[in-house]
Amino acid sequence: MPGKPAKGAPHLDRAGKDLVALGIAFAAVIMFVGTGSSVLPAIVRAFNGTGLGPDKLLINALLLNIALVIFGWRRYRELTGEVAERRRAEEQARLLAETDALTGCLNRRTAAPAIASLIERAEAHGEAIAVIMLDLDKFKQVNDSNSHAAGDALLTAAAERIARTLPPGALLARIGGDEFACALSFPIGQPGEAEAVADALIAAVAQPVGFNGLEIETTISAGVARRDPGDQLSAETLLHRADIAMYHAKKDGRNRLRWFDPAMESELRFRSELESGIRRGLLNREFVPFYQKQVDIETGEISGYEMLARWKSPTLGMVSPEIFVPVAEEIGVIGELSEQLIRQALNDARGWNPRLTLAVNISPMQLRDPWFAQKLLKMLVEANFPPSRLEIEVTESCLHGNIGLVRSLITSLQNQGVTVSLDDFGTGYSSLSQLRSLPFDRIKIDRSFVASINESPESVTIIQSIISLGQGLGLPIVAEGIENEEVLARVREMGSLTGQGYLYGFPESAEATEAELAQMNLLLDIPLPQQIEAEVVPQVARSA
Ligand code: C2E
Ligand code: MG
Ligand code: MG
Repeated sequence: MPGKPAKGAPHLDRAGKDLVALGIAFAAVIMFVGTGSSVLPAIVRAFNGTGLGPDKLLINALLLNIALVIFGWRRYRELTGEVAERRRAEEQARLLAETDALTGCLNRRTAAPAIASLIERAEAHGEAIAVIMLDLDKFKQVNDSNSHAAGDALLTAAAERIARTLPPGALLARIGGDEFACALSFPIGQPGEAEAVADALIAAVAQPVGFNGLEIETTISAGVARRDPGDQLSAETLLHRADIAMYHAKKDGRNRLRWFDPAMESELRFRSELESGIRRGLLNREFVPFYQKQVDIETGEISGYEMLARWKSPTLGMVSPEIFVPVAEEIGVIGELSEQLIRQALNDARGWNPRLTLAVNISPMQLRDPWFAQKLLKMLVEANFPPSRLEIEVTESCLHGNIGLVRSLITSLQNQGVTVSLDDFGTGYSSLSQLRSLPFDRIKIDRSFVASINESPESVTIIQSIISLGQGLGLPIVAEGIENEEVLARVREMGSLTGQGYLYGFPESAEATEAELAQMNLLLDIPLPQQIEAEVVPQVARSA
């Protein structure tokens, strides 16, 4: 089977030769008729004894004619067969080029032209068009946890089900690994018809697929873009819009359908500006640490600071970590960003009174980096910062997934002398047994419970149980979100905690923090490098 589509020229060549062979056979037949018409009667006359036999030359010419007719005819038959075979091969090659080998659907290259023809037809009939982009949810997981054969079986089954569910005249293309695009026309003003089809597609794909005795389950997310007659929307634009809508369906929890909305496009543009801005910001060192005080509620004494990242974007202004941290995680630069910030923070905090601790937040992705503990140690050594003054805050979401890995990382950080605390406690799903099995040094009650302590009896109950849990496990507790005196008064009644919140101070820049510490006489000279290395180096040897 030819791998590439055959070109047109040889095909015409063959057809030409085809005609020449037919011409030779035809000329031979005419000559045969000419010579035969004088030779054959002479033979008959000689046979009857009524005349002389034919001229020998004419007999030879006749025999030659017969040979030519046979040769010409056979050659014509052979060439016709060859041409038919080549046509079949070309058709096969065209099919291969235009369709997807696994599912037999149209492929990425042919999807847009096919939709463009559908648009022309719909325009002629005054109909609207819906382009539906479908993407299997968590397909990679199926491929990784079963096998590629299982993944192929799932794709084939999905393609069959989609094809079966689509109305006649609709198009189906596989345009990526687990991505399908469909296009169908529907009467103007009745998008419900297209939506019903998309809903049926979602339901059809959600049925489990049997493979080698396994039941593989999957769901599909759908994005739909619409074109009414007269709209200036190309097939490519419709595909792009359906893709954006599909991305939103994924973001909104998968296994659902979303219609394209122009706001989605601006959100996507903002998102891609964020991504490129973050990458640029990393190069230009636009990410800076801010610091918020942590205070002993009973004595009012500052015990340390939490570093909170800020992005000084030249175009967006001061950006909150709640906006840029998730994006940095998704584009895979959170580790680099965090290291940049931690280096700056260690450098800033080295000049503070050594009794003050420095807490830094790390992302679940960093916790999954097997080299994280080593990287942190290197930063501590380079900054001459005592590990005992550093606290790493991990959120509950870090605990999902590989708990063994998290445990070994926490242990190796603690072996280096670093403290590890569980941040935003109460918002996630960590169970008591998980908490007991992980050797945290501190628990931080999430700010949402603390800030609402005087309004919500549920918050009071949650805080009380966290405090008694902390007491039971012998873990100190930090209450975040102490916004005013009323909240502080209530928290103080509940136990002896460390507090953090707007009442004590907002997160401030390094300069503002330094100025405040200077006023309180809490700034120190930089510790001697030799002392720090003496503290760190033996631990490097232990952890190596
Ligand atoms: P978090 O670690 O729980 O930090 C506390 C957040 O509460 C901070 O928000 C802080 O400004 C805010 N806050 C402090 N006091 C009060 C208060 O009295 N009331 C209220 N309502 N809020 C208060 P921020 O700075 O916007 O940080 C948000 C989150 O971003 C942090 O929550 C942390 O999870 C994450 N984050 C910050 N910096 C980093 C970083 O360098 N790396 C990573 N991975 N995450 C970071
Ligand atoms: Mg924190
Ligand atoms: Mg927190």
